Amino acid sequence: MNQSQFNQSLLAFLETSPTPFHATANMAARLALSGYTQLNEGDVWQVQAGGKYFVTRNDSSIIAFKLGTKTDALRMVGAHTDSPCLKVKPRAVKTSQGYVQLGAEVYGGALLGPWFDRELSLAGRVHYLNEQGEMRSGLVNAEEAIAIIPSLAIHLDREVNAGRAINPETQMAPVVGIAGEESFDLQAHLASWLRRRQHDVKQILDYELYFYDCQPPAMVGFNQEFIASGRLDNLLSCFIGLQGLLQSDADETAFLICTDHEEVGSTSCCGAAGPFLQQVIERLYPQVEERNRILSRSWLISADNAHAVHPNFADKHENNHKPMLNKGPVIKTNANQRYATTSETASLFRRLCDASYVSVQDFVSRADFACGSTIGPITSAELGIATVDIGVPQLAMHSCRELAGSDDAYSLFKVLKTFYNRVL
Ligand code: ZN
Repeated sequence: MNQSQFNQSLLAFLETSPTPFHATANMAARLALSGYTQLNEGDVWQVQAGGKYFVTRNDSSIIAFKLGTKTDALRMVGAHTDSPCLKVKPRAVKTSQGYVQLGAEVYGGALLGPWFDRELSLAGRVHYLNEQGEMRSGLVNAEEAIAIIPSLAIHLDREVNAGRAINPETQMAPVVGIAGEESFDLQAHLASWLRRRQHDVKQILDYELYFYDCQPPAMVGFNQEFIASGRLDNLLSCFIGLQGLLQSDADETAFLICTDHEEVGSTSCCGAAGPFLQQVIERLYPQVEERNRILSRSWLISADNAHAVHPNFADKHENNHKPMLNKGPVIKTNANQRYATTSETASLFRRLCDASYVSVQDFVSRADFACGSTIGPITSAELGIATVDIGVPQLAMHSCRELAGSDDAYSLFKVLKTFYNRVL
């Protein structure tokens, strides 16, 4: 696959993955097509050396692995499936001034401004009772523009450009229609979206629905230097990790771990701070002594996008650490362990970049700014595994329309492929 084919499939993955549920289903389908067998956590596992498997939890986290014939170390790549967004409330339907609106909570640290004046759609997971009275679930995606959050006209707030705060409760409920004779029935819409996908629905029980921006991902720039899309943080890393794993043909034991809830701290049954990965490893290597020996020799590359320097806000970066788009993946370091990178793991990553003919950049937060974090330190602390935090540089992180360079995803793919394939 060349860079332009790679980017085209990345755009398709981003577009068809509006929620962590859809991202997980898309990755599962791709793995199954490539000969990976799905394991169910409730079954007895019969895995074999040389086999390829994947397992999901909560339909929103996925661990895929390929077992070598002689395992003495695990090579792991980790990323997260969730992105900041607006999540529909349980009793969402309300009316104001004759408009129908759906109340929403803010999920994660979203930049709120970009959500205004965009055509929004809805997607997520719905639980329902079927005609036999059994509980089932299905993914839904309205796929068309059904909501919008209109801005207030500047004539009604002349000070707005001087920095008005946005109240997410009172100013951001998406408008979905004009109130009519009949009351708006969200459940009926959910049932019809499920039926469209051949679900036999009798009664809707509950849902997890997220608004997303309808504008499809696109290449931007006079020379197509950029990729603009929602959810680049961090579906871009999920996609790159998946392609790296699918292209690995060495007899090494390789893992890809993509978990939900990173944007809200990772503490959940399927998040990186929960027991999902640990339990999978325990099932594969039940002997404590052997497992600890393997883990002590293992590596985790935690892939999550990094802050590129912004042309209009260059002073937000420290002078010697200004990652640029299209200049290669970024090693992220923090003295206070907000990133898990050590000199040993950074050195491993530098060597991998070198062996892949990819340039590498460095990021550290300004000493007077708080530093973000990711799944790297959490997984490293849970398993005691040597970890490097890296990522593709991007702008507009946590906007509903983010920006990355069109060369960087492919560069990181080459590095991860080397990691999965090469003698370390
Ligand atoms: Zn992230």
